[in-house]
Amino acid sequence: MSVTAPQVGPGVARTGQTVQQGVQQPPQPSQHSALAALIVVIAAGGIPTLAALAPIAALFGVTAESLQAAFQAMGAIPPIARDASVPERVALGVNLTRRAQLIVALAKRAMAGASAEQLQRQAQQSIDAHRRRAEAAKTVGAAARQFGLVLGWQSVLDSRTTEGCRQMHGNNFRVDQPPIVEGAPAYPGWVHGGTCRCLPVAPWPNGKLVAAAR
Ligand SMILES: [Zn+2]
Repeated sequence: MSVTAPQVGPGVARTGQTVQQGVQQPPQPSQHSALAALIVVIAAGGIPTLAALAPIAALFGVTAESLQAAFQAMGAIPPIARDASVPERVALGVNLTRRAQLIVALAKRAMAGASAEQLQRQAQQSIDAHRRRAEAAKTVGAAARQFGLVLGWQSVLDSRTTEGCRQMHGNNFRVDQPPIVEGAPAYPGWVHGGTCRCLPVAPWPNGKLVAAAR
């Protein structure tokens, strides 16, 4: 026997709290605005209180406790210097977005019963990638101070070089508009999780300027 779901309409809505709770749906804002709200909290630094996390947790359909556990697994986001270069600011933006996405994923795992250790293990890979991204961005910033806003992309060409890095070799890019390499905005050193061996160099005299995909 199947039970017919209560119809939500003016008549049903007026019958009271019980029915309301029965058909209650988690709020469904656009994923974008929910993520933006989470990024603001992450950027503020530290581990937020449960009370501060509750409204955002609701946006993602997770508990404040699980969201806090995810924050604890990731630790605080490393701050950048006040006079940070453009690439370092770009890196911070990318890292904040990635961190927010991972925190949501970790919160869902926490709700599914993952231990703090399990969360930390998963978080560590991203923390390492974020650190590599920030370090490579610093190198790009230093190269930009030396050579200007347009830099050359130099790859190490051998049997381990991936297709994206190989294609970028010999091209130029604008430091304020990182090109898309292997599906994501990238500076030299950012590709495949920040394990790539590419470096920023003086712009190639005949290099093609690779624009950022927008
Ligand atoms: Zn590379």
